[in-house]
Amino acid sequence: MQRLAVLTDAGLVIPAGDAQSSGGRPASRFAFNEAAGVVVVGDLGQTGCHLAVCDLRARPLAEHTAPLLIAQGPDVILGWVKERFAELLAQSGHDWADVLGICIGLPGPVDFETGRPINPPAMPGWDAADVPSMFAEVTSCPVLVDNDARIMAVGEHRVARRGDRHMIFVKIGSGIGAGVIIDGEVLRGERGAAGDIGHFVVEPDSGEVCRCGNIGCLDAVAGGWAIARRMGDAAPTPPDVVRLALEGDLEATGHVRRSGRLVGAALANAVNLLNPTSVVIGGKLAEADEQVFAAVREVVYSNSTPIASRYLDISMTELGHMAGIVGAAHMTIDHVLDPERVASLLG
Ligand SMILES: [Zn+2]
Repeated sequence: MQRLAVLTDAGLVIPAGDAQSSGGRPASRFAFNEAAGVVVVGDLGQTGCHLAVCDLRARPLAEHTAPLLIAQGPDVILGWVKERFAELLAQSGHDWADVLGICIGLPGPVDFETGRPINPPAMPGWDAADVPSMFAEVTSCPVLVDNDARIMAVGEHRVARRGDRHMIFVKIGSGIGAGVIIDGEVLRGERGAAGDIGHFVVEPDSGEVCRCGNIGCLDAVAGGWAIARRMGDAAPTPPDVVRLALEGDLEATGHVRRSGRLVGAALANAVNLLNPTSVVIGGKLAEADEQVFAAVREVVYSNSTPIASRYLDISMTELGHMAGIVGAAHMTIDHVLDPERVASLLG
């Protein structure tokens, strides 16, 4: 009963149903209070972002999407993100004092323990940036930082594919990345670089130099920025490529479908290595033309081993552009309501 009192004092549980306490008699039924606080999350890509304030069931209370250029560096980008977060908190009737945790997804490898990006090829100026410290002046709550495809994988897994033991989520956007779930847990690897499918070398003879310095990486021949580089003035940026593909432009659709085949070739290797239950495809480039998904699917099934592909489910994302913020919110809630943290609250 003492422990329950601490939890009710913290606002994490509240009396529930017909057992409301009256006349000094303690209530006998309690429920988790999803309004005890909020989490604040950001899914930052190379050329766009999705920000949200979510309740403790990972449901967005206020959202904002906007274009951005991650290459402007951490000070400019995170300063701007912090201002938008304050606006979203106000919109949802909250302020920084209500925030229990923050999660930021970034388009590159991140050391989850320290919240610092590690040599991110597509994020000039961000190497080793202390992302959590950027929020120190507004809140002392935990700040998690992880890879963008990984938070999308968590969102998709938690909401739409909870029963899948092993899952690979591939984001095909300005760049290409993957989040891997093994035995229901997100795979980060030794330094946070697990799932970096964008740097699988798929066309070593192409002469296409990748931002990582290698030649013929998947990212360098099939990512949105690589297509923009090839299309020149017709589509100078990845969002231009997406817009033209949505309009059915022949050159753009040709390029994005070729990207689908190349992603399929890289994924077939990952499928052979990991034997996942499912592969889920998301990202703006994949959503711009349904033939991209068809191409990925066809190549994965034809290039992977019969035993790995026989029971493999390949699907488009169910959550779409919501996958990132929903995943980031779940990751944050799991962290702040972790039994050990709650136990420390209980003294
Ligand atoms: Zn590369």
